[in-house]
Amino acid sequence: MGSTDSIKRIDKILFTNARVIEAEKLSEQKQDVVIEDGKLKEIGKISSAGFSGKVVDLHRLALCPGLIDMHVHLREPGGEHKETIETGCDSAMAGGFTGVCPMPNTTPAADNPKIIEFLKNQSKDLLVDVFPIAAVTKDRAGAVLTEMKALVQAGAVAFSDDGAPVTKAGILRSAMQNAKKLDVPIIEHCEDKSFSGNWAMNEGVVSMRLGLPGIPGMAEEVMVARDIQVAECTGAKIHIAHISTAKAVALVRQAKKQGVQVTCEVMPHHFILTEEAVAKYGTNAKMSPPLRTQEDVDAMLKGLQDGTIDVIATDHAPHSQKEKEVEFMIAPMGIVGLETALGLVLSRLVEPGLLTLPQAICRMTKKPAEILNLERGELKIGGPASLTIFDPEHEWTVDKRQFKSKSQNTPFQGWNLKSRVFGLYNNGLWWQA
Ligand SMILES: [Zn+2]
Ligand SMILES: [Zn+2]
Repeated sequence: MGSTDSIKRIDKILFTNARVIEAEKLSEQKQDVVIEDGKLKEIGKISSAGFSGKVVDLHRLALCPGLIDMHVHLREPGGEHKETIETGCDSAMAGGFTGVCPMPNTTPAADNPKIIEFLKNQSKDLLVDVFPIAAVTKDRAGAVLTEMKALVQAGAVAFSDDGAPVTKAGILRSAMQNAKKLDVPIIEHCEDKSFSGNWAMNEGVVSMRLGLPGIPGMAEEVMVARDIQVAECTGAKIHIAHISTAKAVALVRQAKKQGVQVTCEVMPHHFILTEEAVAKYGTNAKMSPPLRTQEDVDAMLKGLQDGTIDVIATDHAPHSQKEKEVEFMIAPMGIVGLETALGLVLSRLVEPGLLTLPQAICRMTKKPAEILNLERGELKIGGPASLTIFDPEHEWTVDKRQFKSKSQNTPFQGWNLKSRVFGLYNNGLWWQA
């Protein structure tokens, strides 16, 4: 473990000359930040004279709440050749994340308290927080609800059958009634599976040209519409995973106006790449939901700007080279995302002026923390110190061979991005990259 070697337990630390980013605003004044007993003690002008702990001069690097990725696949248990909790958390650190939420589509599925306890136990000494998401139904099969209360007590922060939707609306309603009592959200992978049993990409002119079976945007939109209906009737919180079409964003925008408790997330690949990427990047452009059209990409950007899209997450989906280097039709879905997300956000959203730096950071910190009720995501005096420190200006070139993830399935190889993670503080641990 190259990176974890340099993690140190430090209770008392002073960061000087930080450019502090709070969720809504960016302090252009140099600020100092003190941590004591693993808690955030003070932000302001603080003299290092007489300070008894470690002092780190940040020379105007950006300091923000620790980044949280609320949608990852860590593959353990069952897929350890793709990723483990440890390598996934190393990958998270390299990307600037102090918290990740693994989806339950492991083998076996995270559908019982024992597996949630296993995930918590495997990660208990790590710098990165692992906040597991439990399955809505047993074995994610869509038939029998899991023991949701016991799963929350074991540490689950939300429920999802990700990889699949909860197909039956009646089951979803029961799940939402339980989730409401437990005050946790249901996270839906919105895909009506009746549109195509074996699709490979977005249905449209490109799929016709390439001769690949497609799935229409409608397959996502009908499920988003249904989920909003069920959320409205139950009063529960629904979070739409990996939103990808213009109409789906419009549905969420309208539902929010009507007071439905709906939130949603977008992945960098869905606000950057279009279906044309399939011809260029091959199986590293195969994901679920598929890459869509330019009109959809534009709607993602607009949704991020007007706040309809609450969160930026990655859907980090590691697959081995052997699994991905096959015919397009049989390749598995998904790409790794943890180590390129911050760079893509800074280069593609902040640099062109689509979002301010604090707006972008808010969607990777405060918003996911709010949705999941995590005591994270903000710089709260007296609260647990969870920090990401980075250089937003530093230019680098993506080299997948340098990834800490076990897998290298990315379409962004060779891209020039901005960002450099300088260090992370979380759970009383300090890591300088
Ligand atoms: Zn999914
Ligand atoms: Zn996923």
